[in-house]
Amino acid sequence: RTVYINGQYLPEAQATVSVFDRGFLMADAIYEVCAVLEGKLIDCQGHFTRLRRSMAELSMNLELSDDALLEMHRTLIEKNALDEGLVYLQLTRGVVDRDFAYPPEDTPPTLVAFTQDKAIVESALAKRGARVATQPDLRWHRRDIKTTQLLYPSMAKMAAKAAGADDAWLVEEGYVTEGSSSNAFILTQDNVLVTRELSTDLLHGITRAAVISLAEDEGLAIELRAFTPDEAKSAREAFMTSATSMVTSVISVDGHLIGSGAPGPVADKLRAHYLEHSRAHAM
Ligand code: PMP
Repeated sequence: RTVYINGQYLPEAQATVSVFDRGFLMADAIYEVCAVLEGKLIDCQGHFTRLRRSMAELSMNLELSDDALLEMHRTLIEKNALDEGLVYLQLTRGVVDRDFAYPPEDTPPTLVAFTQDKAIVESALAKRGARVATQPDLRWHRRDIKTTQLLYPSMAKMAAKAAGADDAWLVEEGYVTEGSSSNAFILTQDNVLVTRELSTDLLHGITRAAVISLAEDEGLAIELRAFTPDEAKSAREAFMTSATSMVTSVISVDGHLIGSGAPGPVADKLRAHYLEHSRAHAM
């Protein structure tokens, strides 16, 4: 693979980051993931806007404009002949002696990006539907900032897999916050689409926002509020959203089947609409 590192495109073996990089030593780093379909970027402006927000929250700097970021993403897609998958971007506070205090503002940040193949449209998990297991949400309390502190979500996913599920839904004070790497939705027996309101308790998913807007266009009733695992277990349908899983049905929660235990019609329809919307607006 050809990867991007600080303005250069290099074979991955030559693209190295210092041992003293704050991303490596302190997870002082943020990231974004844009899905790619047929060689084009999906919702990338939303991801760049969220990157700017994460930067502002953490006082991080980057000289590149959104246009330059878009150009860089396109170059990576082209150099790697990527058809379907993702572009991953990571920005760190750069290379300095280890210290809890941030380094001077003029310290050059580290920016890396790479492509990864992934089947998005024909996803086996989306076809079958995902089984989720609830896990306590033990992450920090600024989940709205997309940092690379991903050890706890990894632990939660491993615990969910050990419990026979595919992924974890995280629970805090009795309510689902989000998935380990996705936002969580349910469709109640009364056909109301429910997903948690935005706050510092969860990531402000770009796919979540797009799916809410498509659901509004569909005339679905929507409530932005937290729901409990019990409410999810007795829901008509459930699903999760993320850039690279789009809309993926959830067919069981802690072993309780949702509906018939197969992907539901509303989730299937929203997945189809999101796919159509993505293709129409791909860049
Ligand atoms: N929540 C978390 C914790 C995530 O890691 C992700 C995926 N990055 C999402 C939600 C979904 O966000 P998006 O739709 O922007 O990919």
